[in-house]
Amino acid sequence: MIRLYDAHNHLQDDRLSAHWDDIIATARATGIARMVVNGSGVEDWTIVAGLARRYPDMVQPSFGVHPWYTMEQTSDWQRVLREFLEEFPTSGVGEIGLDRWKPDLRWEGQEEFFTTQLRIAAELNRPASIHCLKAWGPLLDALENTPAQRADFCSTATAAQLISSRAL
Ligand SMILES: [Zn+2]
Repeated sequence: MIRLYDAHNHLQDDRLSAHWDDIIATARATGIARMVVNGSGVEDWTIVAGLARRYPDMVQPSFGVHPWYTMEQTSDWQRVLREFLEEFPTSGVGEIGLDRWKPDLRWEGQEEFFTTQLRIAAELNRPASIHCLKAWGPLLDALENTPAQRADFCSTATAAQLISSRAL
């Protein structure tokens, strides 16, 4: 059987919690060897950590503030983030990113959350799981201006969009 790696999901979602055992069993049966479960903010990192403890061979946790939830974070979010990253030495930083697509989502503050978390990922040598919608120019600028990091992307963009974003 081909071994697959699910690089991006949100198994911590409330709507899935009644089905976790079934989902994990189905994933195993279909050849998924491991999955990255991406947190979205302080309020769900505990659930992500619980999944990593419950299914240690399957769940690769990732802790980060998603751009949709930057306004909801407590002032000590960086300290809490570092605690989770230290407790799980192979965890990633995510889901983090930039979003200028979602209606009514504030842009202000997104870049600061994103670059702060990119720096933490680089400092601790962790992979970053990155969300980007209609913000490729600022995203590429941020990647160029922060230390080296490893990343996977959750996004939709064509090569033409990427190229035009560099022309802006
Ligand atoms: Zn995601």
